[in-house]
Amino acid sequence: MVAVYVRRPTVLGVIAVLCGGVGAARFLQLLASRVPTSEIVAIVNVGDDVEMHGLTICPDIDTIIYTLSGLHNDELGWGLRGETWRTMDALAELGGDTWFRLGDLDLATHLYRTARLRRGDTKTDITADLARQRGLDLRILPVTNDPLATMIDSDVGRLSFQEYFVRERHSVAARAVTYDGHAAATPEVREALESAERIIIAPSNPILSIAPLLAVDGVRDALERRRDVVSAISPLIGGRAVKGPADHLMSELGYRPDALGVAQYYASFCSQLVIDRADENLADEVRDVCGSVAICGTLMSEPQQAAELLAAMGL
Ligand code: GDP
Ligand code: CA
Repeated sequence: MVAVYVRRPTVLGVIAVLCGGVGAARFLQLLASRVPTSEIVAIVNVGDDVEMHGLTICPDIDTIIYTLSGLHNDELGWGLRGETWRTMDALAELGGDTWFRLGDLDLATHLYRTARLRRGDTKTDITADLARQRGLDLRILPVTNDPLATMIDSDVGRLSFQEYFVRERHSVAARAVTYDGHAAATPEVREALESAERIIIAPSNPILSIAPLLAVDGVRDALERRRDVVSAISPLIGGRAVKGPADHLMSELGYRPDALGVAQYYASFCSQLVIDRADENLADEVRDVCGSVAICGTLMSEPQQAAELLAAMGL
């Protein structure tokens, strides 16, 4: 008789993922293809959050919810699929500010969130409801409910995050980046960081997505205490960001704009960095800095590389 081996799903326990927007959303989508979503907790940056036309907008949270629910607008790289722009067109006719584009469908999210914030509900609760309403069962936690604002000192003066990123299209040189506010991690985030089996830093922008999370009281300490279970994926491949300003921003601020620079930036709280095969020449130095290095294809839009990335992380 031939023995039949049934492969049991490995019980991995809860995985907490530190997240920015697009890079993190792609990684969460990949992770969700392998791990039950009930075992994933996304801890999300709110340093990009902005008030526009009286509405509170949380771009990284919305990118994650829209991507995981299959509603993300891939052509634009943000917002909702099948979007229309009648409100923005009408606003332009009135002479209103339209450099930060908000689609007609997307506006519903911001109206809903803002109305509930005004009633005294927290971003934590509102985000949980928005995710549930989109059919998601993984937990998406804003890192804090306190104000937090990523600010960029640039060649053209001090800019808010969205002025830098959207209005100036991140083309001006940065001199310093600060994370303003006295923000504390929510109890849900503290609990997740304490109890997670593993903590993964998504391939997000180190300066604009991960550093604002670290600036929140309680986050860096928790990561340092749990360094052994913290791993990260380099968002830089061959010294270039897949998308966005991470490469030139790191170099403008005096960091090496490559996987080794990411390793140095994360080393105090991260014991393993996953780097792309294109960066194999940096592997020994990355290992010296972090303790452990994994090398594989890391371009998540390539199915073969996406599978390799999960395997390299033991997932
Ligand atoms: P944002 O908040 O929307 O700017 O998004 P994130 O900070 O989460 O992600 C931006 C970073 O994701 C950029 O630095 C990209 O280089 C990185 N990124 C996007 N897609 C990939 C990918 O497939 N592989 C890797 N390694 N990095 C990626
Ligand atoms: Ca962002």
